[in-house]
Amino acid sequence: MKKYLVLLLILCLALAGCGRQSAQKEHTLSVVCTIFPCYDLARAVLGGEGEISMLISPGSEVHTYDPTPSDLLKIQNADVFVMIGGESEEWVNTILSSLPGGVRVARLMDCVDALQEELGEGMEEEEESGEAEWDEHIWTSPRNMRKMLSMVTDALCEAAPEKAEVFRKNAGEYDGQLAKLDQDFSDIAASAQRKKLVFGDRFPFLYFVRAYGLSYAAAFPGCSSASEPSVSTVAALVSAIKEEDIPVVFQLELSSGRLARTLADETGAKVLTLHSCHNVTLDEFQSGETYVSLMQKNLQSLTEALN
Ligand SMILES: [Zn+2]
Repeated sequence: MKKYLVLLLILCLALAGCGRQSAQKEHTLSVVCTIFPCYDLARAVLGGEGEISMLISPGSEVHTYDPTPSDLLKIQNADVFVMIGGESEEWVNTILSSLPGGVRVARLMDCVDALQEELGEGMEEEEESGEAEWDEHIWTSPRNMRKMLSMVTDALCEAAPEKAEVFRKNAGEYDGQLAKLDQDFSDIAASAQRKKLVFGDRFPFLYFVRAYGLSYAAAFPGCSSASEPSVSTVAALVSAIKEEDIPVVFQLELSSGRLARTLADETGAKVLTLHSCHNVTLDEFQSGETYVSLMQKNLQSLTEALN
């Protein structure tokens, strides 16, 4: 069924190919992004120039997203298409070759050192096992975000050389904010009393914990679709919390938080949210929250969890 859908979408693309606007003087730079971190970077660099859109709707689940024909048309008509390029975006591979040459594709996983998903302490093994997957959550480390910012900036400057000066200036400002964020996380980790984070949830923070020398225990890998932990997973997490008297158990944004609450009830730890920035709510989207503003909220929660 899904294969059939993809074929249909490719056909839509082929038919719509003739509809692509030819470059004109009044051409507005059009940027299409898959998920929030991509959107956040491109928005910062554009600074109001051009048109930008995000394919994932605010508040929706990133991992079960499938492109609609109108999404594919947007990509087809874009000057720059910004994507992460991981597991959740495998659908892109089926359309890349049919995209017009005018679409510049920035695949952000190409500009960082990718890590393989690992089976951490307490973690439930995934059913689909087999080969280890590349962990797509590269943006959870602000250091990676700085590299990704640079790639997005280059793509936008190539697409609109006349705006390059403005774009590079905007990028420089955002890079300063990311560098400050990185420094703040480094400081918290360096002065922390403990190094372990416990997640009663999925664990998309591998790049983050590696960047700051932290360890972790979590219920599910990366962005596993599983949500029912086994008895042994619950037991392992409870003992991880008790062993080191961990004060905070984390849940992710847009999560039911059920397991985190169970662990908290069992141990006396407090539940806090650590924002992974996969997506934002509609309210957050409309009020202009950025990756930096969301990660700044994580600073406080992290301080509590590590002390
Ligand atoms: Zn994910």
